Amino acid sequence: MSQCSRCGKEVPPETNYCPSCGAKLKVNVDSIHEEIAEARHEELVGYAIAGLGIAFMIISAVLMSIEERRYEWTGPPPVEVVRRPFFESAIAFVILGVLIMSAGFILDSIIIVNV
Ligand SMILES: [Zn+2]
Repeated sequence: MSQCSRCGKEVPPETNYCPSCGAKLKVNVDSIHEEIAEARHEELVGYAIAGLGIAFMIISAVLMSIEERRYEWTGPPPVEVVRRPFFESAIAFVILGVLIMSAGFILDSIIIVNV
């Protein structure tokens, strides 16, 4: 049982208005705390998703930097040929990373608006 802040009479829990004087009682603090904890949890999920997107971008940077060097002897002097065999997949990873990261941040902004 909690007390009415205006008249001091005891009021049953989960009541929004005092039955004696009609004063608006305090909002249930526990449920607010629960909602905040839930929102924080969802926010963390959003950041985790954004982090995953950033991880994809890092992977793509690594893939892009992989070079294949070889010398072709089409006749003197030898020609050095540099190929980046994972360049296309790296670009796919960048796009995927950006999409995942934005999804995470969008999720976070939606949660912030809701709270
Ligand atoms: Zn009251």
